[in-house]
Amino acid sequence: MKIEGFRLKRPDEIEKMRTAGRVLGACLAHVAAATRPGVRAIDLDREAETFIRDHRCVPGFIGYNGFPNSLCVSINEQVVHGIPGERVIEEGDLVSLDCGLILDGWWADSGLSLCAGVAEPEASRLLEVTEEALRRGVAAAQPGGFIGDIGHAVQSYVEACGFSVVRQYVGHGIGRNMHEAPQVPNYGKPGTGNLIKPGLVLAIEPMVNAGRAETRVLDDDWTVVTADGRLSCYFEHTVAITATGPEILSVRPETARVEG
Ligand code: MG
Ligand code: MG
Repeated sequence: MKIEGFRLKRPDEIEKMRTAGRVLGACLAHVAAATRPGVRAIDLDREAETFIRDHRCVPGFIGYNGFPNSLCVSINEQVVHGIPGERVIEEGDLVSLDCGLILDGWWADSGLSLCAGVAEPEASRLLEVTEEALRRGVAAAQPGGFIGDIGHAVQSYVEACGFSVVRQYVGHGIGRNMHEAPQVPNYGKPGTGNLIKPGLVLAIEPMVNAGRAETRVLDDDWTVVTADGRLSCYFEHTVAITATGPEILSVRPETARVEG
């Protein structure tokens, strides 16, 4: 990933990112509700692209380093960066949706995982743990703290639950570019890395594997899969650091996780 430099955002800039984040949250809720057995991945991509354009935003992923679509759809052992194609989602599939958009030059980047239909017990547990890992990572992003606090919060929780965090892909700063400094690993030690200050905006995105942490990339040069073929799960929010604490910009309506 290409990392651009960054500066702290002003309140008026965070307000624009807040608007972008809310559109993206609503988009993901819409796409999540459409993620059912029998639907093709490409259908979800079209839902996302139409929603984004209808809200006068730009689908940020199209053409980003050559990515062909608006939405990443990663299924089961696929970790992230899945290219949505003709594959039909089946009962029990663990589906990860990652989307990004640009509004007036400002980026939002967010995603979630869900099970289509009824979840197998391991998938259900992995979903719970990964969503909670994101919640803990966001809660650790406090002004006066350090980037390592976030990774530590994610890693310590995930590993205590018996799962592993992906190390080859990380969260990141975000603003005028999708990927800005600093990198935000999902592992680390408290009190290490960049100081967290008000005006910093981060994409925090735990990727959690049921088995080992190692990943590899498929021949399409995009799709990341677990090396051991076991399930993977992912949640992401764009989060602004304010003087009083972290604020999730990519908030979703409660209908985001529709199951059954
Ligand atoms: Mg993303
Ligand atoms: Mg991201």
